[in-house]
Amino acid sequence: MTTHLQVAVIGGGVTGTAILLALAREGLTDCMLFERTELTAGATWHSSGHIAHYTTSPLLTGYAARTSAFVRSVMGEVDQDVSLIDLGSLRLATSREAYDTFGRFVETTGGLACDARMLSAQDVADMWPLAHVEDTFGAMHVAADCRLNPADLTQAYARAARQRGATVRRGVEVTELKQRPGGGWTLSTSDGTWTADHVVTASGIFARRTLPMLGVDLPVAVVSHQYLVTEPVPEIVQRRANGAGPLPILRQPDIGMNIREEGDGFCISLYEQNATTVFPDGPPERWGMELFPEDFDSIEAGFLTAMERVPCLGEAGIRTTVHGPMPWSPDFFPMIGPVPGVQGLWVAEAMSYGVTWSGAAAEILASWIAHGDPGEDTSAVSPARFGAYAKSAWADERALGTYKGVYGDGAKDLSVPQSEGHDILLARGAQFKEHDGRALATHVDAIPASGPEVAICVLPQPHVLRAQGVDLDAVLARVLSDFVPPTPTQEGGGWLLSPRGTILAHIRTVMAEPGGAIDLILDAGCPRGAADTLRSRCPNLNFNDQPDEALIVMGRDPDMVARALSVPNDLVQGHVVSHNLGAGGQASRSSDLDGHARWYLRHPNRHHRAVLEALMDALPTAAILGHSDYESLRISAGEARVGHELDANTTPTGTRISGAFPGEPARADLCRFRIAERHDARVHPDTILRDADDAIVGRIVSVTLEGNDLIGIAAVSPEAQSQDGPISVRIGETDHRVMLRALAVDQGRSVGRHATTKRFEAVK
Ligand SMILES: Cc1cc2nc3c(=O)[nH]c(=O)nc-3n(C[C@H](O)[C@H](O)[C@H](O)COP(=O)(O)OP(=O)(O)OC[C@H]3O[C@@H](n4cnc5c(N)ncnc54)[C@H](O)[C@@H]3O)c2cc1C
Repeated sequence: MTTHLQVAVIGGGVTGTAILLALAREGLTDCMLFERTELTAGATWHSSGHIAHYTTSPLLTGYAARTSAFVRSVMGEVDQDVSLIDLGSLRLATSREAYDTFGRFVETTGGLACDARMLSAQDVADMWPLAHVEDTFGAMHVAADCRLNPADLTQAYARAARQRGATVRRGVEVTELKQRPGGGWTLSTSDGTWTADHVVTASGIFARRTLPMLGVDLPVAVVSHQYLVTEPVPEIVQRRANGAGPLPILRQPDIGMNIREEGDGFCISLYEQNATTVFPDGPPERWGMELFPEDFDSIEAGFLTAMERVPCLGEAGIRTTVHGPMPWSPDFFPMIGPVPGVQGLWVAEAMSYGVTWSGAAAEILASWIAHGDPGEDTSAVSPARFGAYAKSAWADERALGTYKGVYGDGAKDLSVPQSEGHDILLARGAQFKEHDGRALATHVDAIPASGPEVAICVLPQPHVLRAQGVDLDAVLARVLSDFVPPTPTQEGGGWLLSPRGTILAHIRTVMAEPGGAIDLILDAGCPRGAADTLRSRCPNLNFNDQPDEALIVMGRDPDMVARALSVPNDLVQGHVVSHNLGAGGQASRSSDLDGHARWYLRHPNRHHRAVLEALMDALPTAAILGHSDYESLRISAGEARVGHELDANTTPTGTRISGAFPGEPARADLCRFRIAERHDARVHPDTILRDADDAIVGRIVSVTLEGNDLIGIAAVSPEAQSQDGPISVRIGETDHRVMLRALAVDQGRSVGRHATTKRFEAVK
């Protein structure tokens, strides 16, 4: 007998069970979780069970805070002790640089999301008297960090899901998955066949077995990691006898150490010098709750340093070593969301910090499956974020690099695929960063204080889909709000919105063949999953990815640029012409940027080098600007862009809903701001703005320097903006007088020339 399910979840670790619960909370109770052996049997049972809030990404910090709340809500729902202890943690700053980095986190995110604050070395000594910390600059205290028993948490998730009507099948392995002709899936298992509208995989360390079964190729990896548990330590026994409370978790990032009390001793983990990836083809078929042999050699050097920090550690015998596999992602961020191009298939894989992110991953997926909308911008965790280069060997290499970055002393310098023309920029002294797994030039030539006369700007690769099908314009008009069809000489465009009416992407459209295919251009800032949403909303259209590159050419003298591109200078905005640079491509005139006429160039990537060379010949005085340089000009001109200032919490009419963390205004609008003269060197995007009474009034979204002035774009509460003249804001410990000027968000090519509010309201 085949039974039909709304959702089938594969994997009974901390992630899969959390998803089952979140689905049930959304009212999807016709759901079943399949676990091949016992719940927790993957990486979960041997995890140390910390919920760790600090990362360099506010998004992931938010996921930890959300999981913490999710865990507490489950504790109120079921009678299952998860041994949660609110220990808090201390992150030692062994260098001035580390102290500044943590200070920045406190100012931008940690102060709101996880009760983080900076402490002096003396404060740390008082809190952790068993450690020598005189040589440190102090530490960051994260009060919200906690520990729990991950196996008990998994059981609690499962129990709460069952209580709401969902089903857990232990000892049932999913062995085959097939898409059904009318939509949905057929699952063959070791105990019968099932059909389901949706399948979610949360198969952790088994992902390299599960995903190929689905014909899916995602760059998931598995890294081995270990911790040691010591015999009782007399100093801990004594503290207990004296009635002292538990010590916070103590972390020392430069040796990847975290140490906390466990029983009457310590539990300690250290970065492994010989860290390796394991299971290149997935775990062996019969892999059970097994561990790897102890590998003390790889942590010996770190252990010696740890003994200097915590001398009583040297007296303690090692009772147990727990050395096991854990899923890991090439860029540390998990993969949460729909699988590109496959209907009804969702993943929560590569959960590097699975305990810490389980609740957030579960709520995002459940909301997406139940309402067709994740409710937030998930592009940073989109499974679609990697390109064709992201194969298993690449994933393993990158995973080791980021593992070193997270647990060790910094990211390994790994080569990444380069775009055509990389050598030209390199020879010009360009700096690069990795962007979506490719090298992207950030800074090339120096920009004069007065701005460049003429410039060639390097952009990240746009995502271009060539769409073909019957009634193309009509179909696009149904899925894109405010759609304007392209003509042979004029770009069109429209907004891709979520069911809640917030922006997923602004899409420019260009006619590829008269009366035929249309190219849909999603600029690089658009959420990576937007292309898939578009595909799924137009099931009858054919889409082909176009490997295109883009450049912007701009100059104060429009004639000069037009001559160089061999295009007329009387083009109106959005007018498309072909240019004959290199092997050719398209140019379209966009709005002026701060007194510069601006053209957007697009061409197949095999011609990119030739186009760049031809441009440099035609405009020998042009400055070449890396992407960060160009962004500075854009921010300075107050042009808001989708995927930067306008994100998935923004509606096309410009209101940015903020309130991601407690205390933030629930509604905020985008404003330009300027802080004249000496700026605080520690002002960064995401810095929280407070008024003179310390109330939170907004958040900096983008920031750049103009001479000595700090300028940028901020999301600010309407009340703060309505005040006349400058307002006083506190950034860190310094008060500044700040001029705010509301931004008209419909300016600029990338935000769309056709914005009206009429149809957006219909979509909402
Ligand atoms: C030493 C160590 C310490 C760690 N400490 C922490 C920490 O402090 N905090 C933290 O957040 N993370 C920590 N982690 C990482 C954490 O353990 C993992 O991120 C987390 O357990 C991943 O959970 P998961 O549910 O995604 O995957 P898994 O736990 O691997 O679960 C996957 C499940 O899917 C099942 N499965 C697979 N294929 C099938 C199939 N075909 N049919 C049915 N079932 C299937 C498996 O049996 C398994 O139970 C640590 C890891 C290690 C190794």
